[in-house]
Amino acid sequence: MVNALVSAPVVTRIAPSPTGFMHVGTARTALFNWLYARGRGGRFLIRIEDTDKARSTQAATDAIVAGMAWLGLDHDGEIVSQAEQADRHAEVAQAMLASGSAYKCFATQEEIEAFREAARAEGRSTLFRSPWRDADPETHPNAPYAIRVKAPLDGETVIKDEVQGDVTVRNDQLDDMIVLRSDGTPTYMLAVVVDDHDMGVTHVIRGDDHLNNAARQMLVYRAMGWPLPVYAHIPLIHGEDGKKLSKRHGALGVEDYVAMGYPATAMRNYLARLGWSHGDDEVFDTDQALEWFDLPGIGKSPARLDFKKLDHVSGQHIAQMPDGDLMVAVSQWRVAAGLAPLQDAEADGLEAALPIIKGSVKKLGDLLDKAHFAMTSRPIVPEPKATKALDATALEILGELTPHLHNASWDRDALEAVAARIAEERGLGLGKIAAPLRASLAGRTATPSVFDMMMVLGRDETLARITDAIEAGPRHASV
Ligand code: GLU
Repeated sequence: MVNALVSAPVVTRIAPSPTGFMHVGTARTALFNWLYARGRGGRFLIRIEDTDKARSTQAATDAIVAGMAWLGLDHDGEIVSQAEQADRHAEVAQAMLASGSAYKCFATQEEIEAFREAARAEGRSTLFRSPWRDADPETHPNAPYAIRVKAPLDGETVIKDEVQGDVTVRNDQLDDMIVLRSDGTPTYMLAVVVDDHDMGVTHVIRGDDHLNNAARQMLVYRAMGWPLPVYAHIPLIHGEDGKKLSKRHGALGVEDYVAMGYPATAMRNYLARLGWSHGDDEVFDTDQALEWFDLPGIGKSPARLDFKKLDHVSGQHIAQMPDGDLMVAVSQWRVAAGLAPLQDAEADGLEAALPIIKGSVKKLGDLLDKAHFAMTSRPIVPEPKATKALDATALEILGELTPHLHNASWDRDALEAVAARIAEERGLGLGKIAAPLRASLAGRTATPSVFDMMMVLGRDETLARITDAIEAGPRHASV
């Protein structure tokens, strides 16, 4: 008989604890899981690990959901609450008890402490060895008990990890961990495994701070006879100084990046590259990431946040984004940064300027600076620095230019040719004409090219601004 090899569909998950903002590391882990599943036609699930009642908040859950939505990481099915599965966790603990892979432990906290102290004094391992592991049930007292899993006493457990390789743990270093506390509440180690199993998770891709947990969690899979997931423990993200990312580095939460003005597509690109690579590819879109992402591309050493790289990636994405998408991204950035929404006229000006400015910025906020000329309305009040370009001679040149602009065909090359001709007739460099044009059109000294600005403003507005400047008279004495 031919053995048909049917590969199961991939199911991944992100399992954040809702205890604050959405950490950028969590976002990266979510992205890796999303890319892995979605790139293979699989499912991507969210589980909120909210069993720590004291530290879990709805606001934190909302921040996670918002962060995922911003990054465009859509998930399948309902978001699972770990706390709500407590009965199911207890049921599994009871099943382990019934099958003999777990046992009732009546040791009190004081007894455990005393055991540890004695072990310390004698220089033995302080891992608790319960006297109840092999006790005759006849001897069980009528008292509260915890349920402990029976860990193997010798041999080794090998975590077959897709990133770390084979990681071997000596079984005498695994204790009979508690799966159900004496008050009937499940432990985290049990909950994770039961939930992953019940959710059909095939691949556990998570931070390598959970690598040690994997060996212990495998005890539960084995006790229940459940198939192990594929593990991939990814190195954590470090700050630019090479140290583990902490509050000291700032910018820990996804919302910080939204507020700094990085578009979501750029962040997705940058986060994908944080610890994973595909050759030398730095800038790519999501379709490419979906096609390329795989576990062997994940590095073994911690990735470093590098804002210069992020700026570069961000600039490349902004340059390629459709104007409509950029307008949406700008609105999201303003909300996150606590800035008022743009007025309609400002938004229209920005949108009109996008084609000439989006190729030369790094962050969304830079767009507003570059689009300033299109977002302000007449009269343009020049900055003090810009008034220098508006002396009597300059105004005279503008006056000469005006009728030509009336008649010129309104395209960039034609406008530049008109200005160049007048400059040449006067034996001046083009800059001598560009400076007063810049000052009258934008009121600033640093702007996009004057001819690009003219194209955005159109003939009427351009001429009106130039006429305003001429009528205002010299702002600066000729030299
Ligand atoms: N709740 C854990 C965390 O936020 C994740 C556990 C897991 O992925 O297995 O780090």
